[in-house]
Order: sequence, then structure tokens, then C-alpha cells
Amino acid sequence: MIKNLIILGGGTAGWMAAAAFSQIFRHDSLNIRLIESDEIGTIGVGESTIPAIRDFNRLLGIDEQEFIRETRATLKLAIKFTDWGRIGQEYFHPFGHSGRDINAVDFHHHWVSLRDDNDIAEFSRFSVAAEAAEQGRFSLPSQNNDFWSSTYSYAFHFDAGLYAQYLRKYAEARGVERIEGKYLSADRNSNSGDIVRLNLTSGAQFEADFFIDATGFRALLLNDVLKSPYENWKEWLKCDSAIAIPCGTRKSFKAFTHASAHSAGWRWRIPLQHRVGNGSVYSSEYISKEDALHDLLANLEAEPLAEPRYLSFVPGMRQEQWKNNCVGIGLSAGFLEPLESTSIYLIQYGIQKLIEYFPVSKDFSLAQKEFNLQLTKEFVRIRDFIIMHYAENQRDDSQFWQDCRNMSLPDGLAYRQAIFRGAGLVDPKQYGLYASVCLGQNVIPEFYDARVDVIPPPERKKILKKIKQEQEVFISRFPLLVDWLRSVGAAVDD
Ligand SMILES: Cc1cc2nc3c(=O)[nH]c(=O)nc-3n(C[C@H](O)[C@H](O)[C@H](O)COP(=O)(O)OP(=O)(O)OC[C@H]3O[C@@H](n4cnc5c(N)ncnc54)[C@H](O)[C@@H]3O)c2cc1C
Repeated sequence: MIKNLIILGGGTAGWMAAAAFSQIFRHDSLNIRLIESDEIGTIGVGESTIPAIRDFNRLLGIDEQEFIRETRATLKLAIKFTDWGRIGQEYFHPFGHSGRDINAVDFHHHWVSLRDDNDIAEFSRFSVAAEAAEQGRFSLPSQNNDFWSSTYSYAFHFDAGLYAQYLRKYAEARGVERIEGKYLSADRNSNSGDIVRLNLTSGAQFEADFFIDATGFRALLLNDVLKSPYENWKEWLKCDSAIAIPCGTRKSFKAFTHASAHSAGWRWRIPLQHRVGNGSVYSSEYISKEDALHDLLANLEAEPLAEPRYLSFVPGMRQEQWKNNCVGIGLSAGFLEPLESTSIYLIQYGIQKLIEYFPVSKDFSLAQKEFNLQLTKEFVRIRDFIIMHYAENQRDDSQFWQDCRNMSLPDGLAYRQAIFRGAGLVDPKQYGLYASVCLGQNVIPEFYDARVDVIPPPERKKILKKIKQEQEVFISRFPLLVDWLRSVGAAVDD
């Protein structure tokens, strides 16, 4: 029987796993220990999330307002993309729908039919989330009130260090034992190859039945001990480096992550209560780190609060994220890149699947197979979505963007793009994501849904304008984000 679990690593991944396992496997059904090294520390980035994080909070039974105060979080309704399709263009990927169906036809078909009319707002601005984000307003969505309040969702920007501390407190209160120490090596069962024991540099040894490798890019168990191969996706995801630097806040609070493209990648801006997280993600083949830093510093809104931190990574995924009696959660399992803020979501997804399939006994080959299949599918789905942002550009200012445009796409993505380009068709599960990014980057379907023309164009235009007006009225009732944050006890100045 599986009775003892060791989590190696105490970054976001390790403590999210510890918190979730301690909540689900209560009443001493599983003995959970987490080993981490303060001296090594964590990666210190990863501060922008997607709405799924709220499901995780709900699973833990966390009070959201307390969470906002403790992690110095701000709200996120969207990602604003600048200079992606072409230099000078902006669009939002909002959390939620844009517009509303008209005669049971998806809104984007109607918008496409009127796209050349200058009187019609940009597609993503038909979303409550995008418009409120841009106006610096916020109100909680609701499923019970009027139509517009159920059309959007939200996530958080939080301080990664404070988040790990918060979850640590949570997990320790539920019985997780934290062990400070540096991992040195692992002993394996000579027949099965399973890990039986971890040895620390102090000489201490810890045995368990099952292990989670949350050691970040090092992947000390999955890579070094179990040799699970890493699939490299650099052919499509050219960015392999990042520089992170925090600065003070100057601008008023707005509920979006800002992703601004530059000549060989992009910059992020993530507003927290007490600072702004900034970073540059770039391809080391196309720009030097000195030039990337220069570009990043030139775009800071206030004085830096720390020295720049340089990071490099190989975009890809470990082929078997569950190998023998060990599962990789977090960066040890794979990393695409920060665009679209999906890494913490993938941690959450891995934890959720591992909890669902968690083995009762040591005979877990079927659960392991299914876990690896599901995780691969999710990584590939998100990988393709991220690739699309790079591939669908019309920038001619640098070799990087031209090479991104000319790369051959993975089959699944090539198909998705063809059906959108040809007929505006979108996988219903990815609707909100796909339409706003494609249209925002000037991928305009050749044909729209035939049912659109049932409504004569002047009447159609009136309907779209009315939708926009209704939305404006709805958003005008929202408080300013800064006031909303203050109302829940956040420490913000504006
Ligand atoms: C540039 C960049 C930007 C990112 N931005 C985002 C974002 O906006 N949104 C998002 O969702 N994700 C983002 N990510 C990803 C995000 O940072 C990670 O998914 C998240 O922080 C989880 O990291 P981790 O816990 O796997 O690794 P880490 O934070 O590296 O933690 C590893 C742990 O292992 C421990 N450890 C290592 N070696 C040993 C040893 N020998 N002995 C004992 N302990 C050891 C360390 O002490 C640490 O506790 C970003 C990543 C990068 C590179």
C-alpha cells in the first residue's frame, strides 16, 4: 500500500502539491513530507495566472480575500498584446466571451461580416473582461445576475514567494512535515527500478513509497535518476531565455498582464500591490542578453528594485512525467514559455490528475499510462496555442518574426488555423481563446457563417452597436480596481 509520499522541492509546484494532497488525503491516510533547500531557493518568477487558479483555491477552501492580502495579489481579467500582429496594433485575450450569440450564431461571425466598418469596435473590445481591464475597473462576475455578469472570469497576479509561503502555512497546518536539506542522491530497488530512499548532503535519509519531483528545471529525480527523456520543442518555440526585474508602480492599476512584442520575443508587465514584475522573454539566437536587457530597462516605468535575474530554459516536455514511482510536477515535468501564463495551470492540472489516479497499491501501470497520456495532450494543446501567437504575425522588422511566420506548424495547429482561416470555425472548447487571438493578429476568415446574412447589414450593425452600448453601461457600474482592492484590505496606493 502507498502510505508515504515525499515531495522534493518547495517552489510553487512543491507547495501546491503539498497543499492539495494534504487537503484531499486527510485523516492520516497519507504521510506527506516535503524536502526543500532554502540555500538553493526557488526560481522566483511565475506571477501571472489564468482563471483555473480559482478552482485550485476552491479545492483548498481558501478565502479569496485573505489570499489577495497575503500574496499581495491584484486581479487579472485579460492579457493585453501589443505589437504582435503588426507593430502599433493592440488586442486583448480576455477571460470570457466577446459579444453575444445572435440568432444562435457565434458572435465572431457577425463581427467578421462588419469588420471593415470603422464604426465597429475591435473584436476583443466587445468583451466585458477586456473593456473593464483597460478601464481599470473590476467587479466580481456572477452566474445569477444579468447576462453580462456571467460572460467573464478572472485570475490573479501574485507574489510567487508569498504564494509559496502561504501554501506552506496551509500544508503544515494539515500535517505536512517540511524538511530543510539538500538532496544528494537516490537509492533504487534493483528489480523494479523504483526509488526507495533519498539521501541528503547532511547524511539524513528518507524513505517513501511514492515521490513527487518538484525540483524545477533541475528535475533531480525524473531526469538524473530515472532518465525520463525530454522532448525539445525549440523548433516552434524559439524563445529560450528570460530576464526578470521588478520595479515600483507608477501607472494606475489595471487588471491585465501586458505582453509587448519586441524584435526577438516579448516583454511582460505584471502589476502587484507592492511592485511591478517585468521581464523579457527572448531567443538567444536572435538577440544578445545585453540588447535584451537594454530593451527591458528602456521600457521600465520606474526605478528597478533589484538586479536583473537571468534565466534560460529549453521549451518542451518530459516524455514520461510519471516514471516508476515518481511524478514530475512543475518545471521538472516541462516548460513551454511564459506567454499566456499557463505553467502554474499545468502544475494544477498535473496535481489534479495525480490525485484522481493516485494509486492505492504499487501496481499502478494503467494509472501511470493514462496520466502520461492526459498530461501530454494538455501540454501539446497549450504548446500549439502559444505557437500560434508567433506564427500568425505580419511583422517585417526582424529575422525572428519572419522565421516565426515561415516555420512549419505541428499538424494539429495547421489544421486549426486552416479551418479558422477558411470558415471561422473554432473548437468549441477553445472558443474564447482562439477567436480573440486569431482576430487580434489579423487572421480573418475568408467566409463567415451563412446565417449571418439573414439579418441585413444595417440592422446587424445596429445590433452590434447596441451590444457594445449595453456593455459600456454595465461596466460603468464597476468600481475602480484600486478601490475594489482596497475594499478587500489590499495595501495599494494609487
Ligand atoms: C521567465 C519565466 C517566467 C514565468 N512566468 C510565469 C507566469 O507568469 N505564470 C505561470 O503560470 N508560470 C510562469 N513561469 C513558470 C513558473 O515560474 C513555474 O511553473 C513555477 O514557479 C513552479 O516552479 P517549480 O516549483 O517547478 O520550480 P522552482 O521554483 O525552481 O522550485 C524548485 C524547488 O526545488 C528545490 N531544490 C532544487 N534542488 C534541490 C536540492 N538539491 N535539494 C533540495 N531541494 C532542491 C528548490 O530549493 C526549490 O524549492 C515562468 C517561468 C519562467 C522561466
